[in-house]
Amino acid sequence: MNSEAMKSRIEELKREKNAIILAHNYQLAEIYDVADFVGDSFELAMQAKKTTAEIIVFCGVHFMAESAKILNPEKKVLIPDASAGCFLADMISVESLRERKKEFPEAAVVAYVNSSAEVKAESDVCCTSANAVEICRKISEQQIIFVPDKNLGEWVGENLPKKKIIPWEGNCYVHAKILEQNLKTARELYPTAIILAHPECEKIIRDAADEVLGTGGMLRFAKNSDAKEFLIATESGMLEKLNRETEEKKFWSLGGECLNMKKITLPKVLSSLENDEFEVEVVKEVAEGARRSLERMVDLSS
Ligand code: SF4
Repeated sequence: MNSEAMKSRIEELKREKNAIILAHNYQLAEIYDVADFVGDSFELAMQAKKTTAEIIVFCGVHFMAESAKILNPEKKVLIPDASAGCFLADMISVESLRERKKEFPEAAVVAYVNSSAEVKAESDVCCTSANAVEICRKISEQQIIFVPDKNLGEWVGENLPKKKIIPWEGNCYVHAKILEQNLKTARELYPTAIILAHPECEKIIRDAADEVLGTGGMLRFAKNSDAKEFLIATESGMLEKLNRETEEKKFWSLGGECLNMKKITLPKVLSSLENDEFEVEVVKEVAEGARRSLERMVDLSS
């Protein structure tokens, strides 16, 4: 079956099964073509919470599909490739987090959504890259164990100097590979371009950027800016979103591809819808704890 036939069949199956496809900004272009909504982690969590569809096919990595299931326990949530994990989320275990909590008993735990359901359940509140500063500002605790992304935690600390942020030693390999030298070379090639960097980037990249933003913020900034050229320091799939939703603007990516994000392909989405694979389940007690942390984030964000 060619890709156009696959796309038609996917649309039919969505209607027949009352299914919706939610896709992260870092997905392949072919996934954008069949998605009902493409967005960042927070936007996707909101869509998952409000959809009336009976089945959610989640095109992203496992922790995102897990969050959709946690927010919609009565719905069937499918991920087209069950092995699409996240190396950053794997850098923390619930046992190691419990040890850190013993070291800092007064501290609140803020978990970036790029974490397992178990880690979310062990935390006080979740955040995304878009709302991390806002969430940490709004909670009353002055000491915060921020997990699992060190760069995002440090960036929150830079924005909230009165709070003591204790960052976890995790990072995203895609953002860590964006090097100062790449940025310098790109700046020489495109001297008038605005640099937008994701807060998961290393400090040296964040400091050199014109703006530090999550992926949703990058899109809003690019749309509203008078500038015509942008260098984008995040996963390269973001260019698809920016190119689709802006006109007469040029974007160049400084980042590479996330191998796990790119595991989701059109044939796998088709197979997922045809065979109800692969269903995401979360143990009830864990889901309850993680839901409390996710819903607290939603409440604090509104
Ligand atoms: S881009 Fe980084 S943080 Fe995002 S899913 Fe891939 S490894 Fe995880």
